[in-house]
Amino acid sequence: MVAPETAGNEPQALSNLLKENRRFAPPADLAAAANVTEAAYNEAAADRLAFWERAAERLTWAKRWDTTLEWKAPFAKWFVGGELNVAYNCVDRHVEEGRGDKVAYHWEGEPDGDTRTLTYSDLKREVSKAANALAELGVSKGDRVAIYMPMIPELPIAMLACARIGAIHSVVFGGFSASALKSRIDDADAKLVITADGGYRRGKPSALKPTVDEAVAECPQVEHVLVVRRTGEDVATNGKDVWWHDLVERQSDQHTAEPHGAEDPLYILYTSGTTGKPKGILHTTGGYLTQTAWTHHAVFDLKPETDIYWCTADIGWVTGHSYIVYGPLANGATSVIYEGTPDTPHRGRFWEIVQKYKITILYTAPTAIRTFMKWGDDIPAKYDMSSLRILGSVGEPINPEAYVWYREHIGGERCPVVDTWWQTETGAIMISPLPGVTAAKPGAAMRPLPGIVADVVDDQGNAVPNGGGGFLAVREPWPSMLRTIWGDDQRYIDTYWSRFEGMYFPGDGAKKDEDGDLWLLGRVDDVMLVSGHNISTTEVESALVSHPKVAEAAVVGATDPLTGQAIVSFVILRGTAEESPDIAAELRDHVAKTLGPIAKPRQILVVPELPKTRSGKIMRRLLRDVAENRSIGDVTTLADSTVMNLISEKLPSAKSED
Ligand code: ATP
Ligand code: MG
Repeated sequence: MVAPETAGNEPQALSNLLKENRRFAPPADLAAAANVTEAAYNEAAADRLAFWERAAERLTWAKRWDTTLEWKAPFAKWFVGGELNVAYNCVDRHVEEGRGDKVAYHWEGEPDGDTRTLTYSDLKREVSKAANALAELGVSKGDRVAIYMPMIPELPIAMLACARIGAIHSVVFGGFSASALKSRIDDADAKLVITADGGYRRGKPSALKPTVDEAVAECPQVEHVLVVRRTGEDVATNGKDVWWHDLVERQSDQHTAEPHGAEDPLYILYTSGTTGKPKGILHTTGGYLTQTAWTHHAVFDLKPETDIYWCTADIGWVTGHSYIVYGPLANGATSVIYEGTPDTPHRGRFWEIVQKYKITILYTAPTAIRTFMKWGDDIPAKYDMSSLRILGSVGEPINPEAYVWYREHIGGERCPVVDTWWQTETGAIMISPLPGVTAAKPGAAMRPLPGIVADVVDDQGNAVPNGGGGFLAVREPWPSMLRTIWGDDQRYIDTYWSRFEGMYFPGDGAKKDEDGDLWLLGRVDDVMLVSGHNISTTEVESALVSHPKVAEAAVVGATDPLTGQAIVSFVILRGTAEESPDIAAELRDHVAKTLGPIAKPRQILVVPELPKTRSGKIMRRLLRDVAENRSIGDVTTLADSTVMNLISEKLPSAKSED
């Protein structure tokens, strides 16, 4: 778990430095009407498989399974022998049960006034037409389809059309380069690419088709490129191209959804690449849909008749797959999809959308929350957000300060915040408060959900006592777990199942507090070893963010002759704070006071931006390269490559302050 240069020093368990005494009990009315109560924990503990069977029964199966779980570690099969159609579950059954006029998606384009509304009946027609179109293009069950699209309704429609016919989709985030797209098309050996001319980002059209052309020129296995016209900008076309409005529009809107095996593949999705080369994660149908639907029902307390739900993630990430497309649709929810960025045409855009659609459940990421904090409290204050009742967070540990800000300035101090820990690999939420049950602590993911057996273990794989820190591990298979890394069972075994005997290793550090509640402490690869103490990045960053002048912080361990590693901090100041000569000393003292002298950073660098992945996560490995004066590593998943230059420029001016 320690960086190679420090291996040899005997590390202790991950230190537990941050103390937090705030608690937020669930609102009484929410608790009284909650979808899931404390009883679920006991039921799942008494019989985990029976618990997941009941969750699976919320879906419509063409054929019931024979065996709930077949576990030949580390390969799991769930609901073996069962058959279902994921698209039927997400669309048709709601129409058949009389909910065809219910809105599935309110779509909000980035250009003002550009909106579309799709009811479940509309979605059924569109998905059926798209499924017929795929068949006409020669796509059949088991074929791979790469999808490279903006956040427009045709994106979920394309995914559902694949699911309907049993083709395996591989959605590639629309911000990726031609080479990233090409490598993902190749890895999955996709025969069709679905794309658009472009989408709208930051107030202007942003082309996608040229990137596809560049990638596909080197992918002879791609037979066709299906192109949605979104921006209407001129695009070059070639013999492989087919317009969506030509092909899909003339198809019949009738299509029979054949059942597929519960273990047939649903999709491949590449991880964000925060820690290195992205992995092609394979998910299958029955278990995946069971857990995404159940967790969406439980963690967001979704009332499909009355809630308006908005997850702000990009569908190109797992959060969008599980909590914009599959979970919400399986539950018959009404969701909002927004195409653009939060600052277009102004920094209140998100809150304007909340006000406009009377959003009741909002699910977003800490990186966005910290940005909103930086922009100032006065912006959300201008909007009526009294419709909100539950707030969610995902993607990184949420600093207590950001959590409390979110609760206060977005949630009006009445909405529970659910901090949901999970990964592309887990497919669905694993550790999270339940909004009607948990007295949540700011910054804690709290307890594993019912049916999930996760723990914090030490180096030897033994559970740490309350108050201790170590590695997060999952002890039992779960329905939406990845089945393998596409085409690479060995990498699957090595990455996730070799660190601890018989346990899944997610690669995250964690601690159990005095009550046994779980706190995620960041990537194990990022842990800093300072004078023999393993210190988590999360705790030091949270201490920095708790200073009124700091909006965002990232810390890394850099080799140090005295302490093994020393903490180097990169901070972004809040809008109102000035960079003063003594800011570094002030922040260093603040951290020492909050966490103890061991966590005092050696250096504080004030920077204008932090390197983030396209999914908004801080890439500490690049900052480590800067802090140790190495050449910068793989930046292909970095959102903005110029950021590293801005940061490197800052370095010489800030040597050790001791
Ligand atoms: P790669 O695996 O390629 O490095 P990645 O890990 O960033 O990419 P994702 O699957 O999108 O790809 O991210 C999952 C990771 O995000 C988790 O392992 C964890 O580190 C972090 N994470 C997600 N949600 C939370 C949360 N609520 N609290 C703490 N960490 C979280
Ligand atoms: Mg990961």
